[in-house]
Amino acid sequence: MIPILRTVAEMRPLVRGWKAQGQTVGVVPTMGALHEGHLSLVRAAKAGTDRVIVTIFVNPKQFNSADDLAKYPRTEEADAALLAPLQVDAVFAPAPDAVYPAGFATTVSVAGVAGPLDGALRPGHFDGVATVVTKLFGMTLADRAYFGQKDWQQLQVVRRMAVDLNLPVDIIGCETLREADGLAMSSRNTRLSASDRQTAPSLYAAMVAAASAMRLGEPAAAALPRAEARLLASGFEAVEYLALRDAETLDAAADLSRPLRLLAAAWLGGVRLIDNISV
Ligand code: AMP
Repeated sequence: MIPILRTVAEMRPLVRGWKAQGQTVGVVPTMGALHEGHLSLVRAAKAGTDRVIVTIFVNPKQFNSADDLAKYPRTEEADAALLAPLQVDAVFAPAPDAVYPAGFATTVSVAGVAGPLDGALRPGHFDGVATVVTKLFGMTLADRAYFGQKDWQQLQVVRRMAVDLNLPVDIIGCETLREADGLAMSSRNTRLSASDRQTAPSLYAAMVAAASAMRLGEPAAAALPRAEARLLASGFEAVEYLALRDAETLDAAADLSRPLRLLAAAWLGGVRLIDNISV
């Protein structure tokens, strides 16, 4: 049985014991409702560190809609069952008031890379992410932290923050795991109806088609509107963004010699799907 810890007071002696033996500690921050994408991060952490802590915390501060927070799937027992065969050393699953006790007054706010795209469309989201990730680093004393490229902008925000604040944590970005039909795995996919689940892979397909057209020289100004029209025709209600950006800064892709990333957010059946690929 993996120990499930609820408080920092429970976790600290465990982690200090590991560190006293010279062992390295990896953390995989999640919001639970675990799937193979999360498990791939856990496997990377197992390969990269002596001890692995998986955190499960649906962080209220990073939700900008009360409805989305209420509907977010919470499946702790199933999550623990998925983690058991991976021989994780501890699950840290605190209650909200163990993370944000009365009087909590600090926000970590990253400018620049956290500004555009999800930063503009989900006000406060990256402040919530940066604040909780900073806390999770302090709580777990991790040496390495594993994040998915699925949340590309989040990964860049966390990298920026770790550098800017001299956090003694190596940030490891892991590839996006996809279903056989290309849909990026996500806890939110369980909220898609059966027919919307059939439509959902169009997002990745449209992005792949646009990226290859752009690689062949088609201007983004032509390739991206065509991809957007394809998504709307296939049944997506809205495309919030489909944007070619500098992969690190997320600024407009002005310098084409730098790594570029195509990022998208689109609504399908009331569910907001995000994805990104390199170009
Ligand atoms: P979440 O529980 O959605 O906050 O995700 C926790 C971590 O898992 C984040 O670092 C995500 O980027 C990562 N993740 C989510 N989905 C995937 C996926 N399909 N492939 C790889 N990593 C993922």
